[in-house]
Amino acid sequence: MTMTQDWLQHLNSDQRQAVTHPAGPLLVLAGAGSGKTRVLTHRIAFLIAEQGVAPHQIVAMTFTNKAAQEMRERVDQLLDGHGQAGQVTISTFHSLGARILRRHAPAAGLEWNFSIYDDADQRRLITRILDEAGDERARADVRRLQSYIDACKNRGWTPSQAHENAHDARAEADAELYANYQRALTQAGAVDFGDLILGVLVLFREHPDLAKQYSQRWQHVLVDEFQDTNPAQYELLDHLTLAHNNLTVVGDDDQAIYRWRGATVANILGFEDANEAAARVKLEQNYRSTSVILEAANDVIARNDRRHAKKLWTERQGGEPIVAFTGADDREEAAYVAETIFDMARQGGNFDDVAIFYRTNAQGRLFEEQLRQWGVPYRIIGGLSFYAREEIKDLLAYLRCALNPRDDVATARVINTPRRGIGKTTLEKLTAATSVPGVESLQGALLLTLEDRPAQNDLFAARRPRPSNPTERLLIETVEELSGVSRRGIDEFWKILEATRDDLLHYEELTPVLERLIERISYFEHLERTDSESAEDRTRNVGELLSAIEEFEQDPNSEALIASVQEAMPDDLDDLLTTAPASLRLRAFLDRSALVQSTDGDNGPGQAVTMMTIHGSKGLEFPTVFVAGLEEETFPSLRDPGDSEELAEERRLAYVAITRAEDRLYMTNARRRRVYGQFKDTEPSRFLLDIDPSRLIIDPRSAAKELDYARDRRKRLGAPHGEFPEPQMPSQGGALYDFNQAPSSDEHLAQDTPDWESNFSQSPQEWDVTHTPAGDDQLIGVTVSHSRFGIGEVVSVSGSGDKARLTVDFPAVGQQTVIRKFLKVLG
Ligand code: ATP
Ligand code: MG
Repeated sequence: MTMTQDWLQHLNSDQRQAVTHPAGPLLVLAGAGSGKTRVLTHRIAFLIAEQGVAPHQIVAMTFTNKAAQEMRERVDQLLDGHGQAGQVTISTFHSLGARILRRHAPAAGLEWNFSIYDDADQRRLITRILDEAGDERARADVRRLQSYIDACKNRGWTPSQAHENAHDARAEADAELYANYQRALTQAGAVDFGDLILGVLVLFREHPDLAKQYSQRWQHVLVDEFQDTNPAQYELLDHLTLAHNNLTVVGDDDQAIYRWRGATVANILGFEDANEAAARVKLEQNYRSTSVILEAANDVIARNDRRHAKKLWTERQGGEPIVAFTGADDREEAAYVAETIFDMARQGGNFDDVAIFYRTNAQGRLFEEQLRQWGVPYRIIGGLSFYAREEIKDLLAYLRCALNPRDDVATARVINTPRRGIGKTTLEKLTAATSVPGVESLQGALLLTLEDRPAQNDLFAARRPRPSNPTERLLIETVEELSGVSRRGIDEFWKILEATRDDLLHYEELTPVLERLIERISYFEHLERTDSESAEDRTRNVGELLSAIEEFEQDPNSEALIASVQEAMPDDLDDLLTTAPASLRLRAFLDRSALVQSTDGDNGPGQAVTMMTIHGSKGLEFPTVFVAGLEEETFPSLRDPGDSEELAEERRLAYVAITRAEDRLYMTNARRRRVYGQFKDTEPSRFLLDIDPSRLIIDPRSAAKELDYARDRRKRLGAPHGEFPEPQMPSQGGALYDFNQAPSSDEHLAQDTPDWESNFSQSPQEWDVTHTPAGDDQLIGVTVSHSRFGIGEVVSVSGSGDKARLTVDFPAVGQQTVIRKFLKVLG
């Protein structure tokens, strides 16, 4: 039996048709669980084993690193583990972009060691640009400008294209800022996330020969979750298929959930118009879920109009009814979920089979607390990424600015962390001097203050300040005449940088470099000093970083990444620092950590329940799924209730959530939910009410009495599905839950709201939550403390909830705008 025959047995005829499609564009537009991803993996294996395509001639794009890893494993299995799967490029769009950009850094106007800026870095840079322009008013606009820039990049627009498309004064001003931002990025030797795609587009637009080379190298391009691609990614695919048009895309318009990130379903719905010769395969059998689950998903999505009609059926008729539970409050909801999972495990269930999905990361905290109380192990995928934590960012910033002296955002971040007397004014003077030719970066400016400037410093040899007018000369003198305190601080900082660079030269491995750095800057003492309460957690997180680096160095997959960094380096580079083994490792590690996207996370060892946002759950499946927080305003979470597009997208999210479940689905809500420390009464989500009642049973432990539930339902929708049925007992039974046994909600309310996000960890159960702000929105005049800025007084508040932005007057550093959750309220 040949391999093909063997595989064909595991595919239905439509899937087979897609897998064996000879060449040219192919579209598989089909509903959830119909085997689209399976088609992709089989097609890759088919091309290699049957069509004689070399593994390195295939590139497949997925949405998350986790999905890429899974795809690689599956292809490897299909090919009998001969290791060929390792040669297929299976990657997220961003990782692929980063690889191409690094490979052709000079042609793209970058140096090989460019940094990748994340969201927060991006905002710092925008703030700096606005500050430099003296545009006080616009400071409040940082986030808007950030999304504007992202939106441009998602469309594939360079600053000049943005300018061409600006039709009023405000749009022109925005485009101007985009241009300045882009210049500042280049000067900092950095790119942002959007540039990982746009940068490649620009490269390919300017060097069509390069695009052609890539399209010849990769003879087949395959894309999963195509409904969530944006125009820039679409253009990238265009370039990559220039020479052959062998493009296989699979997706489901009902699962398009990234409109807010610039994705457009037009890519999938217009695919056939754009590719005249495109073949289309429909898949209609769902292999994942029971018919009850599938029908519930259909009840919800059917209310969206302008859908692409799709049929979906399953052989798995019937199945357990969906269990609905309403908690008296959000805490009870979480307790119910934890207890139900606990019971399942007691009856021999497997934690790995269970997932909890919620609409926003912040909802995860209560589930964590309850799971911990019940001793249920869990892992969180996504959330505030490990790499977005303050302590991790500090240490990585040190390493970044040791490696890339032009990385001003990293330098500014740590120049005075731990404090060494370099205040805001000094930093402003240094920043101002960066505009002088020959200074160019913050570190270039630091050199001006040093008594004995390193004469033969590889990094700066070519950069001597060349003031061309009195203003520039003044800027330099201002730095040269900095006070003794600042100079001592700068001296100290510089020595740390040099010592770290030295370590990068002399150690083979990264771990000792980081260990020595931590010791050199007395980082643990710094954590203890700034916030003793959270110091233990943060210290443990630093330990986690060391483990991550060690793991990275031992992971055989890292070699490829390190090799690609090495490959990307210009041949004539004789700079010792940049070619040292530890530097290469560092660059590769920083790339990887920058690319760990919010939807990804590491899988800790051992069995555990998986928790994540619905966005992160795309493409995954679990035997048992809990969809939580099904309340109006939480899910759907509508910023603008009148926006029908936004509602349609929330509905698609609900469809994605429900269709992840294989056998059992629980849908939960709470009658009141604590929003920013205060209870708010809620109404059941319209999505819950859209589901035909015959598919639901209500758990008798539910706080909402069945009739209340039915009444709610009638009130909202006029009983569109007829009378609500008599409540039934859930099939797994179980004792009535006694909520009196758990600490009362009021007791809980009295506590501060733990800042669960900054404590998210890949190794659950090991850390405790710290306490950050409670209280309500009237904060003005209140004394707060911040881990880096110290103690200050709140001047103004904008927005609400954890993400409210507070302007705080810190005597130590002046006024700063800080996100609420990073503040501790003192009184
Ligand atoms: P989604 O839209 O959620 O991404 P999908 O269309 O990509 O779903 P897959 O994840 O590929 O669907 O498949 C869903 C499940 O059905 C998987 O467990 C897969 O192994 C299984 N499956 C798909 N096709 C078959 C088949 N022909 N025979 C048996 N199992 C199948
Ligand atoms: Mg899939």
